[in-house]
Amino acid sequence: MPPVARKRLLSGMQPTQPQLHLGNLEGALRNWVRLQDDYDMYCCIVDWHALTTMIERTDEIYENSIGIATDYLAAGLDPERSVIFIQSQVKEHAELYLLFSMVTPLGWLERVPTYKEKRDSLEGKAEASHGLLGYPVLQAADILLYKPYGVPVGKDQIPHLELTREIARRFNHLYGETFPMIENVLSDVPILLGIDGRKMSKSYDNAIYIADSADETAKKIQGAFTDPQKIRKDDPGHPEGCAVFHLHVVYNRENKDTVEAECRAGARGCVQCKKECIEAVNAALAPIRERRKEWEANREGVLRILEQGADRARAVASETMKEVRAAMKLP
Ligand code: SF4
Repeated sequence: MPPVARKRLLSGMQPTQPQLHLGNLEGALRNWVRLQDDYDMYCCIVDWHALTTMIERTDEIYENSIGIATDYLAAGLDPERSVIFIQSQVKEHAELYLLFSMVTPLGWLERVPTYKEKRDSLEGKAEASHGLLGYPVLQAADILLYKPYGVPVGKDQIPHLELTREIARRFNHLYGETFPMIENVLSDVPILLGIDGRKMSKSYDNAIYIADSADETAKKIQGAFTDPQKIRKDDPGHPEGCAVFHLHVVYNRENKDTVEAECRAGARGCVQCKKECIEAVNAALAPIRERRKEWEANREGVLRILEQGADRARAVASETMKEVRAAMKLP
């Protein structure tokens, strides 16, 4: 009996930083590692997207991409099963982006809320680029080039994929059925707070990184934001707004109810609570950090995986482009 073809999923991260943080790990990467048991995962490092915010620091992007690939591997993505590659090494992304940009009405892009936010944040500093406006078109090309079954998303990302579907629908309407309607592959992923209590993000300088040492992690958690109303051990606390509690929920799952109850009852002090949190986080990350060190010492191996990944991705992408050109009656 021929093997049953597995459904394909497409996912990506931007190399705007040389390493991933625990928000990236718990919010996406661990989920991809789980999904590779049931799906053919195409895990892209979307370096051209990073240009929208790094146009004056383009020299950092390639090294960042290698760092992100190292984190992918450290987290447990298996290069035998999953295709790990850098977007710019598969030039078909650029060709499909150009063709999609011709079929996408400007109004669709101007309405995208993230474009408006980013444009407003540039006010007075720089002018919004054509690339920033066209970002969702490139994203649609990144996804549809592989004709995947779907894209793994958290609930808050669902609207982002709607434009990809609209572009696919419009293309299919103009040139005949070419692209699938991609599905949202929904997973319940935790949202980690950064050590200052805001969303964990490189730009807030509040992140704990996969590549951080156990000591660096301890220092960060010791200085983390807790409940400002809980000054003494016996003050009743409010764990829902406490960054340390959010780490307990993910990394100390079996004790999180006890942590919560004791915090609320004023039966636990923040110093001890942070100590337990540090132990749990470092224990959970130890095997990933170990693997990261091994891959870091094997740069050649990472580069080989990226090259092989790009070859595998290109094989699929070039087939799609043949269909696209034929549908559009282009040479
Ligand atoms: S006891 Fe723990 S959960 Fe409660 S406020 Fe302090 S650090 Fe946060």
